[in-house]
Amino acid sequence: MSVEPDPRVVEGLDAWEGLTALQQPQWPDRAELRRVRDRLATLPPLVFAGEADALRAQLAAAGRGEAFVLQGGDCAETFADSTADNIRNKIKTILQMAVVLTYGASLPVVKMGRMAGQYAKPRSSDSETRGDVTLPAFRGDIINGYDFTPEARTPDPQRLLEAYHTSASTLNLIRAFTTGGFASLLRVHEWNRGFTTNPAYARYEEIAAEIDRAIRFMAACGADFDALRTVDFYACHEGLLLDYERPLTRVDSRTGLPYDCSAHLLWIGERTRQLDGAHVDYFSRVQNPLGVKLGPTSTGDDAIALMDKLNPSGEPGRITFVTRMGAGKVRDLLPALVEKVTADGRPVTWVCDPMHGNGITSASGYKTRRFSDVIDEVAGFFEVHRALGTVPGGLHIELTGDDVTEVLGGSEEIDDEGLARRYETLVDPRLNHQQSLEMAFRVVELLRR
Ligand code: PEP
Ligand code: MN
Repeated sequence: MSVEPDPRVVEGLDAWEGLTALQQPQWPDRAELRRVRDRLATLPPLVFAGEADALRAQLAAAGRGEAFVLQGGDCAETFADSTADNIRNKIKTILQMAVVLTYGASLPVVKMGRMAGQYAKPRSSDSETRGDVTLPAFRGDIINGYDFTPEARTPDPQRLLEAYHTSASTLNLIRAFTTGGFASLLRVHEWNRGFTTNPAYARYEEIAAEIDRAIRFMAACGADFDALRTVDFYACHEGLLLDYERPLTRVDSRTGLPYDCSAHLLWIGERTRQLDGAHVDYFSRVQNPLGVKLGPTSTGDDAIALMDKLNPSGEPGRITFVTRMGAGKVRDLLPALVEKVTADGRPVTWVCDPMHGNGITSASGYKTRRFSDVIDEVAGFFEVHRALGTVPGGLHIELTGDDVTEVLGGSEEIDDEGLARRYETLVDPRLNHQQSLEMAFRVVELLRR
């Protein structure tokens, strides 16, 4: 039986319009934006409320140490790169990492793609200048184009519709790949064997051999590998562009409550988590599980105030704090934050983003990160939680399934010159396929320390 939505609940959804919303574009034509929003509001939801609830329960388990979260994908998805090959390679990479982590942590891994909606980017400046030309900054494919021309850089509301349709086709493929046998444990295990036969990764051979023995043990015991042919795979993105998130918010017929049906989980970014800002207000009113990024300036009081707004009743699984301190700071800054939140008592899930605090510019001018810094921040995250007796609940990684060269280091030893070979990201540098798998094996090593 469906429950009538409470009109006060639905009205509150528009309260953000009266608040400061940072990082939004200057739409040139508000009437066109309105038409696009009205159209989006009539289109089917991309995900379902019940799926978001299932994810919330799994995130709650991760917060208790009964599961481990793996969130991964591009910094910025693009329409052009939302091809079958690309999407398949990303899913494959995340599934391969998940099998390694499942073994290493002896826990179910909650798999989430920064996929099917990760199109809007916060930028440090509203504009970009090249020579004597200044144009609006690229804010992601959902807003404007990357080419440095006035036509491309002018925000275009029609892009919201293209983002919706590209998300729908991406999700369609995700659902097919993760339920149609592609994700079968035995298959993913075979791919991982391919990875560790590369001499560059000889150091991980032992762990790989252990996983192989574990699988053969399961087979000998009569494990039902048919039941391990499908996996749950969730979609998440930064809840940034409110003109997109609002029309995709729907009232759940079971409960009469609003869910943002653009993704299972939305996270609030480091630049838009102001307590009195539009983003915190908006996401406080939808039922999805939420992430909040916490960078090096965040205090314990900030975290508590965010909980007061976003999860006053302390519902487990509602909030995932995604810390991104930087390798050099995590051991100093994270303990006070975790202690304060733990003392509050309301449960949260702690996830480590070892990417966004570790940006550097290479000598050759590329925006990059060092693989060693990424691993070091993860190590620091585990050390801090271990010392406090709290739960390190998962990882949030920028990655791609392709052989790009955007992050320095790893056993393939991508160096400064190597970056030029295949640097393709439009915003932040991503771990490539091999670096992603290597990271999963390194995490298993860290878990054994
Ligand atoms: C991101 O996840 O791509 C991002 C912009 O992160 P943050 O908000 O942590 O800077
Ligand atoms: Mn990024």
